[in-house]
Amino acid sequence: MRKTRSRSFPVLLMTLAFFAGLIYFAANLYVHSSEWSSMPQNAHLASSTGLEYAGTIKDRRGVVLAQSVRGKRVYNEDEEIRKACLHVVGDNSTNIGTAVQTVFRSELSGYNFVFGLGAPEGMNSGADITLTIDSQVQKAALEALGSNRGAVVVYNYLTGEIICLASTPTYDPENRPEDIETNPEYEGAYLNRALSASYPPGSTFKLVTASEALEDIPGSEDMHYNCTGTDIIGGKEMTCFEVSGDVDMADALMYSCNGYFGRMALKIGKKMMTARAEMQGFNKNLSFDGIETASSSYNVSDADENEFAWSGVGQYKVLETPINMAVRSAAIANGGTPVMPRLIKSMNGIVSPLVNVGKTTLGDEMMSRKTAEKLSDMMDRTAREYYGKSYLCDKLDICAKTGTAEVGGGEKAHAWVTGFAKDEDCPIAFSVIVEHGDSSFYAAIPAASKVLDATADAFRARK
Ligand SMILES: [Zn+2]
Repeated sequence: MRKTRSRSFPVLLMTLAFFAGLIYFAANLYVHSSEWSSMPQNAHLASSTGLEYAGTIKDRRGVVLAQSVRGKRVYNEDEEIRKACLHVVGDNSTNIGTAVQTVFRSELSGYNFVFGLGAPEGMNSGADITLTIDSQVQKAALEALGSNRGAVVVYNYLTGEIICLASTPTYDPENRPEDIETNPEYEGAYLNRALSASYPPGSTFKLVTASEALEDIPGSEDMHYNCTGTDIIGGKEMTCFEVSGDVDMADALMYSCNGYFGRMALKIGKKMMTARAEMQGFNKNLSFDGIETASSSYNVSDADENEFAWSGVGQYKVLETPINMAVRSAAIANGGTPVMPRLIKSMNGIVSPLVNVGKTTLGDEMMSRKTAEKLSDMMDRTAREYYGKSYLCDKLDICAKTGTAEVGGGEKAHAWVTGFAKDEDCPIAFSVIVEHGDSSFYAAIPAASKVLDATADAFRARK
């Protein structure tokens, strides 16, 4: 008896271990099988990409951007549209991590937990996805960026629908360049810069400093500063592009006076500057529709007095993604709280049941309504009196702020512009970056202008 028991104990243990392993495997299979099935190592996919019989991807107008025809993935017939939409749609590979054909591959390819990719005939069709983007605006963005590297974000600040999400350099998904891995022209081509690249925001960050001052420094908008072009802060220089003379906050935003906002950051202090930056998307990841973006960062813990002052004008180590900047402009347009961006209009004709996909969601409050209205007025005046409203866009009433962000190393500065339209029939917020564009006025605004014109046409054509 004793002998039997001592023998049965190891058997019992082994049996338990077997069932534990089985449960572990089943749980893993359930959680990860859709990812495994679309891994390139999966022999079932062979030559393939898992997209041979995948669903169709359309833009907001119903223009087909990608579809599967007789076992082959084909893209829009217009090469410019294919290139302009590459980073949103993706190609046959999964190299572009934020692309819809990467993130939603299992839904598109019709993966089914019971049948895997081998579902019976008739059950094998993948989901069709309609995106919020407009392929004509995408095309305009590609033309606007030209041979420059950069990114464009345009989205509806009332519904969250992304109208344009463009990134260069790009390539044709139908004819991926053979030298893509070695030719410097294509360096970073797999990256959607609008979502996955972060840059020094330069003077666009004055909107963060101004909003914090308006919230927490009483009377700050009437504070005056005498700009002589150079200020000595912490024993080192803080310089401006021009001599602005006596300025209040609205003037300082318009002339983009560094001294004013550098001094204002010192008055606010590191703790409150950091808290406000974090309210506005820094030091955390923005994600929407299951798509993860890079984080924007504001960290001044090691900054000396001069460096901290420079952080208040978006220099020092401050980094921001184009999408985050557009969300802040949307918040200003929308009374302080942004509607978060979204890219999926519908899946199989309905708003997807997946959590947070294709749904309008409200972000956290970035500033009070009163502060948003004041900033909106300041951006309106800056656009009217300093940039010229018609230079920004003939067809829309644009409020804006530019930034020319120094990058060091003897390279030309990055050129930014961000803002929003006041037009009720075209409620869009935007951000545009032209890498090494040197001048926000001569590089970023003209690029934005072309995209904003196309956006106005797109909205008004629908009526
Ligand atoms: Zn100045």
